[in-house]
Amino acid sequence: MKEPTLGNPQHTIEVLQKYNFSFQKKFGQNFLIDAHVLDKIISSAEITKDDFVLEIGPGIGTMTQYLACAAGKVVAVEIDQSLIPILEDTLSAYDNVRIINEDVLKVDIAKLVQEENGGKPIKVVANLPYYITTPIIMGLFESHVPIQSITVMVQKEVADRMQVGPGTKDYGALSLAVQYYSKPYIVANVPANCFMPRPKVGSAVIRLERYDEAPVAVTDEKMMFKVIRASFNQRRKTLANGLNNSSELDFTKEEIQLAIEKLGKGASIRGEALTLDEFAALTNILLAEA
Ligand code: SAM
Repeated sequence: MKEPTLGNPQHTIEVLQKYNFSFQKKFGQNFLIDAHVLDKIISSAEITKDDFVLEIGPGIGTMTQYLACAAGKVVAVEIDQSLIPILEDTLSAYDNVRIINEDVLKVDIAKLVQEENGGKPIKVVANLPYYITTPIIMGLFESHVPIQSITVMVQKEVADRMQVGPGTKDYGALSLAVQYYSKPYIVANVPANCFMPRPKVGSAVIRLERYDEAPVAVTDEKMMFKVIRASFNQRRKTLANGLNNSSELDFTKEEIQLAIEKLGKGASIRGEALTLDEFAALTNILLAEA
């Protein structure tokens, strides 16, 4: 298969000029122009010819070319219509790529995986549009799309939030959700000069390896996430107040106090001090009481 031609400033500029393309800020368009970073993403995603890869936001097709060389099949979802003729051009040498012109948040990915890969687990690889990182990742996990791993470029600060545990300022609902569904691992930090145009924030590649089985036992997953959201909504308040004030939960003050006591914590404990294990246990206690 044809070696990638994109992944450097010169060829990227040539393509942009040929099509008179103007960047759209609202779509979070920062295109990769560094072959080392592209190689690193492909190698850490461990793509083989047996793999079906979903790419979110192919841009002008830079990473898509690398993915097409490594994978069996690539489906790439791009929202910006003006990129479609460019993609048809830059990907014309690859017969294992399908482009879908759509907002990824509106695509039924479980159905797509069923149709294109017989429902077998896929790999997601992307240089994500940063303005919708969290909804994309949470959407993939919560809709139980069969996924083996997600290897994505995200804002450095968001990668940190996905990885940390209790006792740090970055710890929150995103950390717990990501760590409930997957094992996160930061693969590389990527400086702004690897993109065109340069983003104002630092970036990092993170790999999320989906668990076959959740690392904690909880009787009602959805309820646990309601408890987690309620605990972090009011970060400066105690866990008891957070749970009490939540519009998503209807446990009584007494039930909440008793559950926190049964968990072995003091009344002044804050949500940000609890581990994923403890959130699961707290949810199980609350559900058993109610
Ligand atoms: N993959 C390319 C690269 O690395 O050079 C482009 C990455 S750029 C950070 C993000 C891409 O996602 C852009 O092409 C943008 O148009 C696209 N995008 C933004 N919002 C999207 C959405 N809701 N659905 C699908 N694609 C989207």
